Order: sequence, then C-alpha cells, then structure tokens
Amino acid sequence: MSLSNSLISLPEIDQIMEQSMKSFLDFKKVNALDRAAFLERIAFEIEALGEELIKTTQEETNLPEARLLGERGRTTMQLRMFAAMLKEGSWVEASIDHAIPDKVPAKPDIRKMLVPTGPVVVFGASNFPYAYSTAGGDTASALASGCSVVVKAHPAHLKTSTLIASAIDKAIVCTNMPTHCFQHVAGNSFEIGKALVQHSFTSAVGFTGSFSGGRALYDYAAVRPKPIPVFSEMGSTNPVLLLPDALTLNAETIAIQYAGSITLGVGQFCTNPGILMGVSSDGLERFKKALANAIEQIAPSKMLHDGILKAYQNNRSKALQTKGVSALSNEVSSIENFATPVIAQVAGIDFLQNENLKEEVFGPYAILVECADIEELKNVWNTLSGQLTTSIMGTDVDFESQPDLIEMATLIAGRVLLNGVPTGVEVCASMVHGGPYPATTDSRFTAVGINAVKRWVRPVCFQNCPDHLLPDALKEQNPLKIKRMIDGNPYQ
Ligand code: NAP
Repeated sequence: MSLSNSLISLPEIDQIMEQSMKSFLDFKKVNALDRAAFLERIAFEIEALGEELIKTTQEETNLPEARLLGERGRTTMQLRMFAAMLKEGSWVEASIDHAIPDKVPAKPDIRKMLVPTGPVVVFGASNFPYAYSTAGGDTASALASGCSVVVKAHPAHLKTSTLIASAIDKAIVCTNMPTHCFQHVAGNSFEIGKALVQHSFTSAVGFTGSFSGGRALYDYAAVRPKPIPVFSEMGSTNPVLLLPDALTLNAETIAIQYAGSITLGVGQFCTNPGILMGVSSDGLERFKKALANAIEQIAPSKMLHDGILKAYQNNRSKALQTKGVSALSNEVSSIENFATPVIAQVAGIDFLQNENLKEEVFGPYAILVECADIEELKNVWNTLSGQLTTSIMGTDVDFESQPDLIEMATLIAGRVLLNGVPTGVEVCASMVHGGPYPATTDSRFTAVGINAVKRWVRPVCFQNCPDHLLPDALKEQNPLKIKRMIDGNPYQ
C-alpha cells in the first residue's frame, strides 16, 4: 500500500519495514498463478490511469508524449512477461536428486529450488519514470519472485510515482494480495534512503542512477552488521569502435546513425554512446564532418530536471576544458535551460593521459578519440572501466584483420553490439543489461529480461524431506507441471 505522496520521517521506517516483512511472509506463500494474476492486474490498472498519467509525467519530466506512451507499453509488457514466467514455472530451477540407499555411503534425497530473499527496497530512476521506477523492471521482477517491495520514489516525478502506486494498491485489493506486499515512500534527505538500505529487514536493493548514488547505497549495505546485495546500475560511456574499412565504405551513414543515438531522449539513456574511437584516416575525416553536420542540425531540448541540466553543462565544460580537447561540432543555437548537443574530440595520446575524459557526461554528448593506429585504439578501449555495452562498427575485412576484438569486448561489457547503436534495450530473455563495475555493482546479473528475477532469489535445498512437507515445485508428482532437472538430466 502506498502511504501517500507525503514525505516520510526516519522513525516511520521501522513500521514500514515491519509491515513489509510481515507481508513478505504471507506473499511468498501466494501461489504462482495468483501472483501472475496480480502482476497482470497491475498492468491493467496502469493502463486504466489513461491520459492523466501521461499528462502528469509530461509535466514532471519534460519527456514527450510519444516516448511516455512507448515507455508505459514497455512497463506493462514487462509485468505481463513476468506473469507469463510465473505461469510457465521453470524459473525456480527445481532440481531433484533421488536417494540411492545402496550407494556407499548412501546418497540422500536432495531437492533444490530458488526462493525469495525477503523485503526489497527499489529506488526509482529519474530517466525512466515508468520502466525503471515504481512499477518498473525492479519492482515487477521482485514481486514476481515473491519478495515484498518498498519503493523509494524519485523526487523528480513524485506525482507520477504516486499515481502508479495507486494502481498497484488497486491491484492488491482486486487480487486479494497481502496489504503491504508493496509500499511507496518518499523522502527529503539521503538519510531516508540510507535507513531503508540499512534496515535489518531489508534483504536486497535495486537502484538505477548516478555512480555516486549507486555506490553510496552499496557502501551502506556493506557496513551493515548483516550485509545484503545492492544491485546498482550506474550507467556507462558505452564505447564504440569505428573500424577503418567500415568508415571507408559507410562513414556518412554511420555518422547519421550515431548522431541520432547520441541525442536520443536528450542523451538521457544509460546506453548513450559517450566515447567513439577511430584511427586517423580519410574515412574518419568524412565521419567527423558528417557527424558534426548532423549534430548541428539537432535543436536544443529540455532535460529531465534542472539538476540534470546543470550537471550536464558542468561535466561537458570540464571535458571541453581538458588539455587536448576541442569541440568537433559548433553550438549553432542555444536556448536558456535547454541542453545543446555537443561532440568533443581528442587525440588518443591525450585521452590516455586524462582520466576525467573516461567519465560519463550524462546528456547529448560524446567524445571522439582519434587514434594513431589500431594498437592505440585497442589500448584506449582496454583502459576503460566496466561498461553496460560496447559497439563495434566493422566489416568482414576489419574483423579478419583484428580477430581478437570480440573476445576483448566480452571483458569490458555486458552487451556486445556489432554494427548497430546501443540505445534501445530489447526486453527479452537473452538481453543482458548489466556489466562489470562500475557499470553495475554485480556483473553477474541483468536488470532487463526475465533473468532480472534472479537478483531477488537464493537457492535452498531440502535433504530427506517428506514429500508432503516439500514446496509444490519439488513434490514427486510435479503438481505444477513445471520443467525440472531430475537426477542430473536436463530440465524436462
Ligand atoms: P541520483 O542522484 O543517483 O539519485 C537517484 C536516487 O538515489 C534518489 O532517490 C536519491 O535520493 C538516491 N540517492 C542518491 N545518492 C544517495 C545517497 N548518497 N544516499 C542515499 N540516497 C541517495 O540520480 P538522479 O537524481 O536521477 O540524477 C543525478 C545524476 O545521475 C544525473 O545528472 C546523471 O549524471 C546520473 N544518472 C545516470 C543515469 C544512468 O543511467 N547512467 C540515470 C539517471 C541519472 P533523493 O531522492 O534523496 O535525492
């Protein structure tokens, strides 16, 4: 249940987390089909909010209607995807090893499955008011797993968050779920977020946002008497390799593709391509010219909120004032309180000497690193920290001359793209939206797709447990009819 859209105080957190824990103990016993119906009902109630929701979010975030309609569609689709996962059932990874009494020593009966960890705290993201916020991927996957959820609303879209929370509240009532399996809170200081993370009943945390915020939550969790996992997704610079043959053949087309990707959503996507790398050549010169032309034709736009705009302007200025850096595109027009797209450029040797150029500039910005040769380009790529994505624009000729690139890419990023742009994250089972630190705090997991549920569960095995005391997923007769691994044979 959402408390209200009013701010909570520190002393209220005990009560909120006690309610969350109490509801968790009931909620985890709700059978999978009823939990699926709950998620489907949330999707239905969000859609029923209609225009009021879209209008409210437009006012709060400056995001255009078409983008919000698309994001709402993605959010309800995610809820229905997790409902389908629950109905199918194999996500619990049920595994049965029957006893072998004749074995020496005797092998006991052992059965394993995934179980929910407990109350989860989710921090809403500023840049995805629906898909990574109140009923977004973190909440949907945590509720699917059987965890109760406490959402800390993002202050930049509190009205939107409260509306979505009201839809979830309705779904709780309609599907007869435990009252506090979902709670919605807002706070006016970091102390609220810190107290939620450090409460003894909190079992895990989901976050999308800045590096400083995500790292702070991770550190709060690490110093608890009982540490818990924090799944912070903190963004990245999503480096792009522009290989020589690809530029010779397609410099102009690639430039137009990337101008669109760099400025999509005013650059406010965690997959925004922030570092482009190429080797000095005629092809690279053509690419630079075409990219500058395309960027200069893109009008300034409003960002999500003033804080993000100021951060963009400061970080961009800092980058442009760094030794060896110059603007590749000119600021043709500027409007007060709007963000103007900018492309910076720097030689590989200067880039390597300036650590600050490797940091994310959140907004419609990218830096082009011009390398002397392919070895310098690989060196630049190798010095970058963990990334959500890395993209390679190359032809067969390029890949034949550099056969180690794909292998190198897997060391850097969670998603390796060939001949495409990183913005646009498909929601499907094979998607990985995660990556080595500092892109995320745990590279073994994804925040998008059904495997996002794995963040909120842990394996438990039952040894010599009588059939009638086992969870349904592990009973001999398979009452749920789900796929299971039996005696080491593949899931069937
Ligand atoms: P943020 O500052 O990281 O805040 C997100 C949430 O985390 C807010 O609820 C905030 O609490 C909380 N938080 C942040 N630091 C905290 C701390 N030390 N202790 C406790 N709670 C903390 O993100 P933002 O407001 O969305 O945007 C700020 C900057 O983050 C942007 O300018 C951009 O650079 C970056 N960003 C990156 C991505 C990405 O995907 N890469 C996405 C969004 C933002 P309060 O409500 O109390 O402030």
